[in-house]
Amino acid sequence: MDFYTLISLINGIVAIFFGIFVLSRNPKKSINITFFLMSVGVTIWSLSYSAWLSVDNFSDALFWSRMLNLGATLIPIFYLHWILNILNIVRKKIIILIFGYFLTFICVINSFSLSYIKSVDQVLSFSFWPQAGPLYVVFLIFGYFGLTSYALYQLFINKKNVDDKEKKQQINYIIIGSIFGFGGGATNFPLMFGLEIIPPIGQIFVILYIIIFTFATLKYHLFEIRILLTEVLVWMIGVCLLFLPFSMPTGELKILTSFILILFLIFGYYLIRAIREETERKEELEKINKMKSEFISIVSHQLRTPLAAIRGHSSMLKSGDYGELSKSSIVGVNYIYQSTIRMIELVNSLLNISRIERGDIELKYSFFSIEDLIKNCIKDIEILAKEKKLYIKLIKPKSVFPQIYGDAEKIKNAINNLINNAILYTVKGGVKIKLSQEEKMIKIEIEDTGIGIEPTELQKIFKSFSRGKGGTELYTQGTGLGLYVAKNFIEIHKGTLSVFSKGKDRGSTFTIRIPFNNNKI
Ligand code: ADP
Repeated sequence: MDFYTLISLINGIVAIFFGIFVLSRNPKKSINITFFLMSVGVTIWSLSYSAWLSVDNFSDALFWSRMLNLGATLIPIFYLHWILNILNIVRKKIIILIFGYFLTFICVINSFSLSYIKSVDQVLSFSFWPQAGPLYVVFLIFGYFGLTSYALYQLFINKKNVDDKEKKQQINYIIIGSIFGFGGGATNFPLMFGLEIIPPIGQIFVILYIIIFTFATLKYHLFEIRILLTEVLVWMIGVCLLFLPFSMPTGELKILTSFILILFLIFGYYLIRAIREETERKEELEKINKMKSEFISIVSHQLRTPLAAIRGHSSMLKSGDYGELSKSSIVGVNYIYQSTIRMIELVNSLLNISRIERGDIELKYSFFSIEDLIKNCIKDIEILAKEKKLYIKLIKPKSVFPQIYGDAEKIKNAINNLINNAILYTVKGGVKIKLSQEEKMIKIEIEDTGIGIEPTELQKIFKSFSRGKGGTELYTQGTGLGLYVAKNFIEIHKGTLSVFSKGKDRGSTFTIRIPFNNNKI
């Protein structure tokens, strides 16, 4: 078997395998149906290609070369239909699609006539290369190049309007796969017109495009790949076991190996089913989580505007901009103002959480002084510390501290949170903030003499909406969101946030480590 025969055989088997696999995920989805039909086209083309290369007489060669071109004729239209499905614009482009199907239909019914493939001739080292008739030229211009270029064009222009990052990535993969597949396939054409410019080297790329398309169709979910690999393995072992009974010398061994085969088939069936069920469950959960994050994001955005208005107007009321207020009214307005500030913080935390969960945090990098940043955080909380009669000490190195490169706002948010907590959860004593350098990292320790944290709660408090027992008793208005956001903001800077506490009423120390320049790590 020569190189081209083998490559085409592999292409055909891989194409039909992936086609069936994608279809079996959901046979009712038109994306999957069109992908499957395209794979059928590739399979007819590839398997006929290897059959055509293996025959040694003119009439068989003519038959298989017509078969292979019949397969090639089907690919562009199913490809276009598949792409329009992915972009969700089938209805909008229905006229083009109907034209494509009509053209394909005309070509298919003529695929065994002289007007399509007129003959097979010797070119290069190939004894029977198909020679194109006039209708084949029409197919090449309007079908192969026309329909696929139109699909690619749609991919490019629609990519800009896609918000979903995953979908954008999927489109990028499809564009790369299309260039490989159709570019590779096109290397077959010059020889059909007697032009011996390049040999059909692109054939080898076809396999790449099938694999890239499959992963793109499955949106490269890791779970899907797991099912795919399990199925491949089960099928491969199954096929090997199928031949085993025939090769056994005695009747008993034949029965035994058949029995093993049956057991394996039952086991394989349940294994695949279990993995599929688990995958579907995980997918469902992922979907619900995504919906939850989107819901939180929408609600929070809607809440921000009215809250900002309440904050602004209550602040003006407080400062007498709407006229003098009585003492008791000032108390009430102050209460409204403070509650609104808390609500705005909560909404901001919710927005941050939904961004973290969607992996959608934008970082605005700049060089800044961490020392100045900490001093600003201390200023923000000084009044509360004084009210509670707690000290705040900053211990910093004597030498000048290098600037760091990162998103100052996010790091400030994290440090603010930790200092706030230290003051909130401390009744007597105070807070020490120690800034130091540890190799290429900055180390910030925030140590308080507060209520401490039980060993069982040390890791739990970093989860969203999670609060400690002591914390809930001392400060009822907490939300359990601050540490979760802080940890994530530090981690996106390739840093760490850890906690240490000797236990209840024995204080806590939160430690941040961040690289000086997290962008260059
Ligand atoms: P919140 O403070 O709104 O509850 P956080 O995520 O900031 O949310 O903190 C989670 C929990 O961790 C708090 O409820 C508290 O039980 C505990 N905690 C955080 N910081 C401290 C601290 N410095 N001392 C004691 N407990 C703390």
